[in-house]
Amino acid sequence: MSPTKPPILQIEDVRLTFRTREGAIRALNGASLTIHEGEAVGLVGESGSGKSTLARAVLGLNPERSSRIEAGRILMAGRDVTWLSQGEWEGERGHPVAMVFQDPLSFLNPIMRIGRQIAESIERHTPQRRVAERVGELLELVKLPSSLARAYPHELSGGMRQRALLAVALACEPRLLVADEPTTALDVTTQAEILALLRDLRERLGMAMLLITHDLGIVASACERLYVIYAGRVLEWGRTQNVFAAPAHPYTVGLFHAARADRDAKGRFATIGGEPPDLGEPAQGCPFAPRCPKAMTECVRSMPDATVLDQGESHAVRCWLYPQPGDAASASGRVVGG
Ligand code: ATP
Ligand code: SF4
Repeated sequence: MSPTKPPILQIEDVRLTFRTREGAIRALNGASLTIHEGEAVGLVGESGSGKSTLARAVLGLNPERSSRIEAGRILMAGRDVTWLSQGEWEGERGHPVAMVFQDPLSFLNPIMRIGRQIAESIERHTPQRRVAERVGELLELVKLPSSLARAYPHELSGGMRQRALLAVALACEPRLLVADEPTTALDVTTQAEILALLRDLRERLGMAMLLITHDLGIVASACERLYVIYAGRVLEWGRTQNVFAAPAHPYTVGLFHAARADRDAKGRFATIGGEPPDLGEPAQGCPFAPRCPKAMTECVRSMPDATVLDQGESHAVRCWLYPQPGDAASASGRVVGG
C-alpha cells in the first residue's frame, strides 16, 4: 500500500435502486468501502444485504435499464467511474478491475475452448503479447495443465472451471480482483485449494482483492480487513483481527454467534431473529433496529455516525451503543467514512 497512490477502489456513500414491478428496491443505502493497492478486503453479510449489488456496481454490471445509482460515487484508482455507460464499461472491464463469480459456467462461453477464451481476454487488453505462450503461462499460474486449453467448460470439474475463470480474469492483469462467493459452490477440499490459489496469486501479482462471502471463516483466512454490510449499509469495518477479537455491532455479534453455531441458554443454535429488512421502505434510523436485542428509542429515529474504536483507526462501527462524535464521554468518537 503506497501512501502517495489513491486507493485502488473507493466507494463513497453509494445509493442504488432497482426498479421492479412491485416497486423500488433500495439495495444500497449509503454504502462506503475503500481498498488500497495490494490489500485483501472481505465483504460479509446475510443474503440480500447488498454484497453482490455493491460488487457489480464496481464493474458497471447492474442492469442499466432497471437499476440506478441515485447518489454517491465510485472511484477506481482515483478516477470517477460512477456514471460510465455500458458502452464505456466494455472498454474498462478487466483492467484495472476484474471479477470472478460463484458460478463460472454463467460467465464462461459453453461453446468456446478454454484456451480461446483466455486468448480473447489477452487480445482485448494486452494485444502485444505472444498470445499462445501467455495462455500457457496463465494456465500454469492457476495450476491447470496446458492441455486444458483445448477443453470446453462442461468438460471441467467445478474447481477447474473456477481456475479457468480466474485465468480469463488474470489475462487482463487486474490490479483488483472482485471475487463474489468464488468457493460457495465447491466441496470443502476444492474450496481450500481455490482459497490457497487466491492467496498465492495475490502474493505473486501484488493484486488487491474484494472477497464477497457469507462465510466468516473464509474472511479470517484470506482478508486483512473486512466490512459488514446490512440492508445496503456498512455497519462495521476494520482489521480482520480487531473485528474478530471484539465484534462491536450487535449485527456482527449475531453473525459471529450464528457462524460459530453458539447455543443459547435453552441449548438452541443461535440465529439472528426477526425478518430481513424491507428494502422498499428503508429505515430512517438504524436498519437493524427491528431485530436488535439492544435497540433503544433513538435507534429508530436516526442513523448514528461512525465511531472509531481504536487509536489506529482500524476498527469502526455505526451504532448508538458507542459514543458519538462530539459526546463529552467520547474519547475517540469521530466521524469517518462508512
Ligand atoms: P446473496 O448472498 O443472496 O447473493 P447479496 O447480499 O449479494 O445476497 P444482493 O444480490 O446484492 O444481495 O441483493 C440485494 C437486494 O437487491 C435484494 O433484495 C435483491 O433481491 C435485490 N436485487 C438484486 N439484484 C436485483 C435486480 N437485478 N433486480 C431487482 N432486485 C435486485
Ligand atoms: Fe441496535 Fe441501536 Fe445499535 Fe442499531 S443502533 S444496532 S438498533 S443498538
